[in-house]
Amino acid sequence: MASDQVAKRLVNQYAILRELNTEAVLRRTELSRRLNVRKSSVTSIVGGLLEKGVLREERPGNVRSAVGLNYDSFYAAVSGVSCRGIQFARVNLRGEVTRYQTVSFRGNEKLKAVIARIASGLNEIVHDGDGGCLGYGVTVSGGMDKGQGSVFRDLTLHAKCGNSLVEQLKVAMGTEVCVAHDIRSRLWSCAWFDEWSQHFERILYLFLSEGVASALLIRETLNGGQRLYSGEIGHVSTGADGRLCSCGLANCLEAYCSVPSMISDVAAVCPDLKVEEAIDLARQAVEASEVSEVLNEAMRHLARALSGVTALFDPSVVVLGSQSSELSCVLRPMLERHLRDEKARGGADEVEVRAVEGSHDVALRGIAGFVIDRAYATGEFSVLPK
Ligand SMILES: [Zn+2]
Repeated sequence: MASDQVAKRLVNQYAILRELNTEAVLRRTELSRRLNVRKSSVTSIVGGLLEKGVLREERPGNVRSAVGLNYDSFYAAVSGVSCRGIQFARVNLRGEVTRYQTVSFRGNEKLKAVIARIASGLNEIVHDGDGGCLGYGVTVSGGMDKGQGSVFRDLTLHAKCGNSLVEQLKVAMGTEVCVAHDIRSRLWSCAWFDEWSQHFERILYLFLSEGVASALLIRETLNGGQRLYSGEIGHVSTGADGRLCSCGLANCLEAYCSVPSMISDVAAVCPDLKVEEAIDLARQAVEASEVSEVLNEAMRHLARALSGVTALFDPSVVVLGSQSSELSCVLRPMLERHLRDEKARGGADEVEVRAVEGSHDVALRGIAGFVIDRAYATGEFSVLPK
């Protein structure tokens, strides 16, 4: 085939895989109609994908049968690095996480040692078991651990260490490794695997944990920013109480609405309550109005800090994640109300806020989504032998 034909076939193949990624099964005629690709091309591409095992037929051998992704045939081997440790997992084409394991850090490890451990962990999870490995992905946390700060600064701030993490992982694994920030990975997990996200063109994602971070997706493209610094809103100046932030400056957004900040605010008004984690905030907010009021005030700060962003980008939906799904659900209506109040200043008051799951493996699913997306785009299935 001529190179332009190969390129066109790849584009059509990607469109077919992308369509089947959000729809369970479709017949070839329906794919042809939806994607405006000739029926003969669809039949040929689907035939190739059936042969590789990427697709399966509902009624094997019947050309009129609906086809769908063969979810367990391939997986992405992924790792997540944060101050809590290093996680490893396989994620299949449907976003199901298997072979999850986590290892802790051993004191002040240098970047080189961390990379060696990531490489050996990834090799271990692909070593045996079924399915073909589509590729490797590593998601890195923006959070920094005080005791191990240097490792995380090197790992997370591409802007400061160039592409060294990407380059060193490539050398260690002997192939390209997909690397992404954990917040962008979390957003990509929604965009790639969750059906509801298909209805929204512009998604602003917020994640509340030890800090406050965000990510923006516009028409299936993540906005990384000129210096890969997009979304780092935790130290935007907000409020006027002169509160000190861990960065040394006063009035950062994180000083008002990170989980530790909300916990210390609750401790100040209700010293007898036992509130140590995100989930405690959610449970006490239902019981005690003082706790609910603290959270409401934090969301007012967050809405104020976001007002410029929402005015600029007019997101279809604001997605709120945190370390606890219960906390996200409690905060959701509060944030929605305050964002509406902020937006009403400009005459528009429609904003939808959605709470999402906050568990550790969301970022792993997201980085796997990047790996799978790349394999769909390049048509390279099975980087490693089965
Ligand atoms: Zn700060």
